[in-house]
Amino acid sequence: MTGKVCYAVANASRDELMASSSGGAFSIIARSVLEEGGVVYGHAFVSPTEVRCVRVDDPAGLPRLRGSKYVQSDMGTAMRDVLSDLRAGRRVVFSGTPCQVSGLSSFLRVKGAPTDGLLLIDIVCHGVPSQVFFDACMGWEHRGSRLESVRFRDKREGWGTVGVATAVITTPVFHRSVVRDEVFSPETSYYYERFLAGDVYRESCYRCPYAGGERPGDVTIGDFWGVDQQAAGLDPRGGISLVITNTARGDAVVRDIKEASRWAERPLGEAVAGNDQLRHPTQRPAARDEILEEWVENGIDGLEEEYRRATAWRRRAWLAKRAAKKMLKGAIRR
Ligand SMILES: Cc1cc2nc3c(=O)[nH]c(=O)nc-3n(C[C@H](O)[C@H](O)[C@H](O)COP(=O)(O)OP(=O)(O)OC[C@H]3O[C@@H](n4cnc5c(N)ncnc54)[C@H](O)[C@@H]3O)c2cc1C
Ligand code: SF4
Repeated sequence: MTGKVCYAVANASRDELMASSSGGAFSIIARSVLEEGGVVYGHAFVSPTEVRCVRVDDPAGLPRLRGSKYVQSDMGTAMRDVLSDLRAGRRVVFSGTPCQVSGLSSFLRVKGAPTDGLLLIDIVCHGVPSQVFFDACMGWEHRGSRLESVRFRDKREGWGTVGVATAVITTPVFHRSVVRDEVFSPETSYYYERFLAGDVYRESCYRCPYAGGERPGDVTIGDFWGVDQQAAGLDPRGGISLVITNTARGDAVVRDIKEASRWAERPLGEAVAGNDQLRHPTQRPAARDEILEEWVENGIDGLEEEYRRATAWRRRAWLAKRAAKKMLKGAIRR
């Protein structure tokens, strides 16, 4: 990678930072364009489990785009909509996985679209499972309740991989409905463990041509794992974004918005060292075939039940550790 500039970034708005998966870099860029009358395309839940690319033309629509949804997102009519926005002279930000960004670029090239007003943001991406696999797992993991929403990266317990699912549970007593937030992690959710293990991705993700230095976006954003916190002068507790500018356009946009937040220029090697997906695609684990064959032939029940058996002790230890941490926090506050 040469000619690129690499930054560690933390959004100065506490609300935006806490609702974002990394340091909230996406919101900083998207908000600045929306406030100037532009439009932003990003990925949102359109039902409790279904993710789609949606168009937002008002800052009030931004919250639904925030946060990583760890499943393949449906592009719907987004490509055609971007084309008509560009032809109408609107400023457009499109964000998505590198393969989505690359697909959009090819489409716009073929259509001869005017692209001066377009900013492409690609996210560092280690792969996506299919929507049907996600639906099957969520159906099993939330059986007996009505799932309302899933949030993969909830920061109430810090910047990490703890998520929160909100579900409506009907109690046997007077059939009362109770809305409950259920914390989940790879220790308690089969889906999340499979996602992080990387063994249920789409076949093409294991040969991803974008998992390296050649990026299709003007700007690349990700988690800045391994950032030198002291040198960057940023507090990691709320999350730190990695932002790499790949083109002169990306550079110009970042230069315009930099003053409004906390940006620290960092050596590109620091980002690459901390992030496998900037070096190579996820390796295809041998377990992938076995898992997906079992699911296709016999459904999700056996896989989920086996996971619960095999992780019973790990799950209990994780829950006990969380409870102890909570008690300690409570005692310190008192
Ligand atoms: C499937 C997936 C895998 C990822 N893998 C890595 C990784 O290996 N290493 C790494 O550093 N970062 C990875 N990320 C990116 C990271 O989790 C954050 O999304 C990114 O750093 C942006 O964070 P933010 O705080 O700036 O903004 P946020 O508000 O958290 O990010 C929202 C952005 O993510 C996009 N987005 C969310 N879900 C999807 C989706 N399903 N498909 C396409 N775009 C989506 C939105 O459109 C928006 O641009 C991954 C994200 C996803 C969705
Ligand atoms: S890993 Fe590559 S192919 Fe798979 S979703 Fe991400 S960008 Fe697309």
